[in-house]
Amino acid sequence: MKFVSTRDVLQQEKISASQAIIRGLAPDGGLYVPDGIPAFSESDILSLCQKSYCERAAFVLSKYLDDYTYEELLEDCLKAYAPSSFPGSSPCPLVRVHDNVYVLELWHGPTAAFKDMALQIMPRLLSRALRKNGVDETALILVATSGDTGKAALEGYKDVPQVKIMVFYPRDGVSRVQKLQMMTQTGDNVSVCAIKGNFDDAQTGVKKIFSDKAFAKKLGDQGLILSSANSINWGRLAPQIAYYVSAYCDLLNAGAVRYGDPFDVCVPTGNFGNIFAAYLAKQSGLPIRRLICASNKNHILTDFLSTGEYDRNRTFFTTMSPSMDILISSNLERLLYFLGGSKKTGQFMSSLSETGLYRIDAEMLDAVQKEFTGFFTTEEETAQTIRRYFDDYGYLADTHTSVALHAANEYAKNAGREVPLVVDSTASPYKFAQDVCKSLRPDLSFEDPLNALDQLVEMSGKEIPYPLKGIAERKIRFEDVIEPAKMPEAVLGFVQRD
Ligand SMILES: *Cc1c(COP(=O)(O)O)cnc(C)c1O
Repeated sequence: MKFVSTRDVLQQEKISASQAIIRGLAPDGGLYVPDGIPAFSESDILSLCQKSYCERAAFVLSKYLDDYTYEELLEDCLKAYAPSSFPGSSPCPLVRVHDNVYVLELWHGPTAAFKDMALQIMPRLLSRALRKNGVDETALILVATSGDTGKAALEGYKDVPQVKIMVFYPRDGVSRVQKLQMMTQTGDNVSVCAIKGNFDDAQTGVKKIFSDKAFAKKLGDQGLILSSANSINWGRLAPQIAYYVSAYCDLLNAGAVRYGDPFDVCVPTGNFGNIFAAYLAKQSGLPIRRLICASNKNHILTDFLSTGEYDRNRTFFTTMSPSMDILISSNLERLLYFLGGSKKTGQFMSSLSETGLYRIDAEMLDAVQKEFTGFFTTEEETAQTIRRYFDDYGYLADTHTSVALHAANEYAKNAGREVPLVVDSTASPYKFAQDVCKSLRPDLSFEDPLNALDQLVEMSGKEIPYPLKGIAERKIRFEDVIEPAKMPEAVLGFVQRD
């Protein structure tokens, strides 16, 4: 298996999985995609059913990262998903909530959000990739975050040798808990900076740095190469495929399906990475019937999936599910490539950067709609759904999960409830405690958002996850707030510090 850029029409450059992980983004601005998709057979899946999560994940990864051995990957998985980082019976338990609705809890890791599933293993994959390719330079990871990626990347990369990491987040676009988590980050090789702008400004800033050759040269002179931990990196995407395979094994083991029976998947979506991993799992043979793309008030994807027009010329809203407040869903580019090829993808992407808009043709839209359907959830519906799931089923969902639960129910109105529906739960309710509390008890208000954590314990009787305990007492280390234009300067300041 080789990797090509989504925009490389002639496919002039084919690289290995480990090289794709080192590079992150292709030189032409495209994203790396495999030139073929591995198939999982019935006997593969049935034998995975008997295995642990780490063995399942190592199997899936060995197919999608084929210049790593199964043994290397198993070793990395055992470290990444160790019970000390992911306490509990499984790193990502599948919980039946009602009827045929299951929640795949992806937030039991060190930052209480689903990005840990990828970012606990990604640094190990990168570190191996550097060794495999004889690279002596230090990898400088730059991350733009809408909140969860940044913290998860910092936790994953802190104190990893041959790596430095710098994270940019929108000052007003992340929750108080998220901000505190980042401002108090430990580790000698880390830096964190807030920017005046939204997530897209941060992401655009990082992308600009990545495509600036003169800047790369400056870094090169200091023994540094740029690498990304954003969900555009193949090393982020591949580990996410594994939990869909694992969830299917869990459904089989629970007797909810027989081999080959379909199930639906509903994903609270922002950058389109998580749901795209589900799409790949389907291409590899999982009998996923429909991929339900759940959006919040920023429903650019819902509109795209119904009309074929992707138009970012619209108001950006800050919502209570901030990790989904995104107007440019980068990983959608990979889907465009698989369904339309690199020539069209290149055209769509230049149109997007020039006019903020592109439209796919009827044939492509048809192909998209065969796989995906989109629903969006308003703020009021998000709050109601949190309340309803807690009152009716005793299930406490965070704001992002609630967006997806509502979408799943909208979908079931037409599709029925015969087929099991797996809804991704992407954050612990405690990570967004204030909004979760207010949804349950609209009469409450909190002077300090952190008080909501204790209030939530009182209401739900559920424990605060270990990563969020005592967060207010930790030492603040990073307080800088800068204009997006100053991001390159901030990077140089960080790498020149020592
Ligand atoms: C990142 C994130 C999402 C969105 O996932 P994408 O892969 O970007 O679509 C949803 N919920 C939470 C809590 C997240 O952190």
